[in-house]
Amino acid sequence: MPKTTKNALAIHGGTPVRGADKKWPGWPQFDDTERKALNEVLESGKWFFGDRVTQFEREYADYQDARFCVTCNSGTAAAEIAMQALGIGPGDEVLVPAYTFIATASSVARVGATPIFVDIDDSWCMDPALAEAAITPRTKAIMPVHFGSQVCDMDRFNALAQKHNLKIIEDACHSWGSKWKGKGTGALGFGGVFSFQASKNITAGEGGAILTDNEEFADACKSITNCGRAKGSVWYGHVLLGTNARITEFAAALLSAQLSRLQEHTLRRQRNAAILNKELGAIEGLIPQPGDSRMTQRAYHLYCMRMDDKAFGCSREQMVEAARAEGLPIGPGYAVPLYKQPVFAERKGTPDYTKCHCPATEDLCYRTGTWFGHPNLLGSEEDMYDIVAIFKKIKENVSLLAK
Ligand SMILES: *Cc1c(COP(=O)(O)O)cnc(C)c1O
Repeated sequence: MPKTTKNALAIHGGTPVRGADKKWPGWPQFDDTERKALNEVLESGKWFFGDRVTQFEREYADYQDARFCVTCNSGTAAAEIAMQALGIGPGDEVLVPAYTFIATASSVARVGATPIFVDIDDSWCMDPALAEAAITPRTKAIMPVHFGSQVCDMDRFNALAQKHNLKIIEDACHSWGSKWKGKGTGALGFGGVFSFQASKNITAGEGGAILTDNEEFADACKSITNCGRAKGSVWYGHVLLGTNARITEFAAALLSAQLSRLQEHTLRRQRNAAILNKELGAIEGLIPQPGDSRMTQRAYHLYCMRMDDKAFGCSREQMVEAARAEGLPIGPGYAVPLYKQPVFAERKGTPDYTKCHCPATEDLCYRTGTWFGHPNLLGSEEDMYDIVAIFKKIKENVSLLAK
């Protein structure tokens, strides 16, 4: 073991930058707003299909600058319902990134269509040029992900939609509050899907929503979440093949309460991330996920960085392990591209997913990607300088880490 110096790394027996006495902000956050809202639903005896769902749908649509919001019970359900409402099915292809959560691709497969994996660019989002190259006569939609809240180049994706007669459904499950040229994510394309699962920036434990400016699409999504009932139809009138994906009044009440602090939280994360972008970006070998001047607000679901092992001086795994020992709960991100998951890789038929190769995605998975979650960004300015100190300390001692 290397000799313990004054500034020794915690993994070498030194004192961590953040000891056990220094706590990061917890998640989820709540106070009497949530308590009161939940208790009101409880006491009202009206636990489903009521005004609170309608109220949250209005509030959330307004917050994201969309005309319509349809809530449902998960982001995964939202993506599947959006695909079904567009009439996407067997024989159709939908372009998705390979660096994302499973639901982006599984939602396409679950309606019988084929997810086609497209690589990302330096933004960690789907590369629009590669997307265009992947379009075939069978392509019906593109589902880019606003990864880590970084908004995809929606100007180019919308231009592709126009040119090739496709629908853009944003996977906005990282981007409550992100804005592109002043408009919220979710209805920048034809529609967008959101998650309110426990780890997300507003949460009811589970939950989801679909946003759109298109009334017909909103009505179809609503009908599918509600057992296929048509708008204004009788209880026993079923016009579409739906499911029950409704949220409860408890969930809606929680979400309205959570939404009441989302903007303040978003601004705080943005301020703190700006410190990290400047300070960490100045460390050789660390490349924070870049912004885009057209993104007028950024949610920061994750704080993402690429680490160039050669320029930084050790492997990503060594850096992540050292940073964790110093008190930062950081991880290496997704371990494999989605097409390596057995559900795709072992699937017989066309396409043969074992032939997929997305080099930028593989580089993030296997060598350079790291991130930590949004709760850390709710800390103080001093907390941010602790994060900076952690990476400076690792960099100073990097020769003792590299083998
Ligand atoms: C969280 C998430 C979803 C959906 O998540 P649920 O847990 O089903 O609500 C979809 N896409 C991405 C990129 C996500 O991170």
